[in-house]
Amino acid sequence: MAASFEYDYLIAGGGAAGLSLAYYISQEPRLADKRVLILEPETKNRNDRTWSFWTDAPTPFDSIVAHEWGQLAFRSPGYEQVFNLTRHRYKMIRGLDFYNFVGQALADTPQIVRMQGTVETLNNTPTGITAETSAGTFTARYAFDSRPPQFQKRPDKYRYLLQHFVGWEVETSRDVFNPQTVEFMDFRGEQQREARFMYVLPFSERRALVEYTLFSAEILPKVEYEAAMRKYLGELGITDFRIEAEEVGAIPMTDHPLPPAEGRHIINLGTRAGRAKPSTGYAFKRIHAHSAHLVRALAATGHPPTNLTGDQWQFSFFDTLLLDIMQRQGEHTRNVFTELFTRNTPERLFDFLDERTSSWENLQVLNSVTPGPFLQSIAHVLRGRPGRRTTE
Ligand SMILES: Cc1cc2nc3c(=O)[nH]c(=O)nc-3n(C[C@H](O)[C@H](O)[C@H](O)COP(=O)(O)OP(=O)(O)OC[C@H]3O[C@@H](n4cnc5c(N)ncnc54)[C@H](O)[C@@H]3O)c2cc1C
Repeated sequence: MAASFEYDYLIAGGGAAGLSLAYYISQEPRLADKRVLILEPETKNRNDRTWSFWTDAPTPFDSIVAHEWGQLAFRSPGYEQVFNLTRHRYKMIRGLDFYNFVGQALADTPQIVRMQGTVETLNNTPTGITAETSAGTFTARYAFDSRPPQFQKRPDKYRYLLQHFVGWEVETSRDVFNPQTVEFMDFRGEQQREARFMYVLPFSERRALVEYTLFSAEILPKVEYEAAMRKYLGELGITDFRIEAEEVGAIPMTDHPLPPAEGRHIINLGTRAGRAKPSTGYAFKRIHAHSAHLVRALAATGHPPTNLTGDQWQFSFFDTLLLDIMQRQGEHTRNVFTELFTRNTPERLFDFLDERTSSWENLQVLNSVTPGPFLQSIAHVLRGRPGRRTTE
């Protein structure tokens, strides 16, 4: 006799990944009879983040895109270029708009239940899962777990960095920004043996999200990000501005294994499943691609796909090499990105970072960077120990 469960799918966490999966399920007619429970402790009624991404195809969330750009600037000492994006657009979605958009879609889908609560433990049983939660015990056929990952660090084996930033949405008293051009990476400031850049999303001539961003191991005291933003704005001739909103974040950049599943019936999602790209921290588009991939298989076969993420080893290998360079020689990161932007179009770089380039194109990308640091990192990967900073 088939086991009976209270739910077909239990989703732990209703942030980007949990809501994305629920949204894709709600849009799939072949899953219309599936009972879904989402457990999330927060109310998700704050704009707690903004998501930006590049894309060359329509997305299900285009109606809530707050702004998009057709030009992208890359700057470092000795090389500055504003690129016209031919195939891609760079887009931004506010977190709160996403939560509300999915909330509305789910409100029309009675089979999907949202409950406020915390998932404490998830356990595989021979045919499904049981979940101990603050709202009671539940059973389901499958669990999809997007709780933040927790793991014991192994610095002797893996690399641990963060993409960390503080951003201000500022309003200035005179025109200063170019709303056509996203300032993707501005590496002209001091690197202090790390990778440090400004990232600016201009919404109008007088309004922009300005973020001081680092790829490094340690979070800075907040005043340091603030001082860097004031300095940057000062260099644009702006001392008179209002801070309308603030964004603070730290995204893991690591090659520590983040498994796509725990046993047969618990599938990981989002950051927990390694959907934040280790070498860049970008996750939003990967999260939605993952949801679409899972839902396609659930609809077609009733089960998650055998290959849960579709990740390809050669791209993970590149991620690890770049992390290794960032960890032992952080200030070299800007040279790597400068070489990449000097010798490739943003279109090719975007495709490469989206892990959809051919082996030939990958070779072309790798051929555009100075080989020395990468060869050193290859040696570190082969001997199974991350590189360390040696020189003072
Ligand atoms: C400030 C910020 C800005 C970012 N900007 C970008 C960007 O521009 N582009 C991009 O590609 N990526 C960006 N990222 C990275 C990534 O897209 C986000 O972190 C994304 O939200 C990750 O999705 P997630 O579902 O894994 O985590 P979250 O969205 O954080 O969702 C996890 C959910 O789990 C819930 N939870 C926690 N514990 C429990 C529990 N015990 N039981 C049940 N639920 C629980 C949390 O409340 C949360 O809602 C950003 C990240 C941050 C922090």
